[in-house]
Amino acid sequence: MARVSVHHRQGASGMKTIGFIGLGIMGAPMARNLVSAGFTVRGYDLSDSAVAELASAGGVATESIADAVDGADVVATMLPADPHVLSVVLGEDGVLEHLKPGTLLIDFSTVTPDTSRKVASAGAEKGVRVLDAPVSGGQAGAVDGVLSIMVGGSPADFEAAQPVFDAVGKVAALVGPSGSGQVVKAANQLVVGGTYALVAEAILLMEASGVDASAGLDVLAGGLAGSRILELKRRSMLAREFDPGFRIDLHHKDMGIVLDAARRAELALPFAFQVAAHVQAARALGLGDRDHSALLAVAERFTGRMGA
Ligand code: NAD
Repeated sequence: MARVSVHHRQGASGMKTIGFIGLGIMGAPMARNLVSAGFTVRGYDLSDSAVAELASAGGVATESIADAVDGADVVATMLPADPHVLSVVLGEDGVLEHLKPGTLLIDFSTVTPDTSRKVASAGAEKGVRVLDAPVSGGQAGAVDGVLSIMVGGSPADFEAAQPVFDAVGKVAALVGPSGSGQVVKAANQLVVGGTYALVAEAILLMEASGVDASAGLDVLAGGLAGSRILELKRRSMLAREFDPGFRIDLHHKDMGIVLDAARRAELALPFAFQVAAHVQAARALGLGDRDHSALLAVAERFTGRMGA
């Protein structure tokens, strides 16, 4: 049974020092919010400029994984994909080689449930408590500290992580044991990708039929068809503005996680395959570094209305 908690900001309680690895689009603002919440944040990234930026925002610059996790009560990771998490956490000179027993490791990255379970069991062998905690809410949610956090792990570790979740998110839900957070994130990405694909077709239908698509989308946004995607993205989609945001390449990785999870669960999910094919087509059209709302460009080409 899911336990959802909506938090009010609190101090950093017993946990004082966080090692934060992966200071990219999402990790950088999350680390800054942890600094603002009163934590000592020891940041590490392959990019020196990302580390320097955190230091200028009040964090501590470090030069290696070992340096970042030195003396940390909590270690947070926000890395692109499975290989990065596996090498940073389990690899030679990685996080687990340097943590003392009892430390909490929170992986905010979106990876396969399998990778999360692997990390959790390797952590357990060393007495390190591991949570998978992928997020939704995008760069804006990370900057504003209002992410939704989907957590897999034990109830006790979930409770222990609350001060960290308070600093970066608005809602955190414990959804099951290790790997469960990733399953919920996969479900999230399926709904997001599918919604973009359908909104794209709705736009083309209205435009090609000679109706006012802008007014039409306003009506849709206020009715049962309404969604956060219609609310936030209908203007930019109509204008064919596809600056990321969330890149198609990352959504492609996430649809791979969806299909893998469906296969393992012995499920036939035809729309999941459709969404994955649309995202794959976007990559094939050279749109991998564009926002995922660029699924509209795929729909246009599919129906011979390029540049409509
Ligand atoms: P990003 O590529 O901007 O950031 C990843 C950072 O990790 C980079 O700064 C990179 O230098 C660093 N890194 C990679 N390998 C490393 C290593 N070995 N050691 C240290 N640092 C290393 O990616 P992002 O957009 O911040 O996404 C991070 C994760 O969050 C992904 O799994 C993504 O799917 C997920 N996510 C992203 C968004 C979004 O809107 N961007 C939203 C929700 C979830």
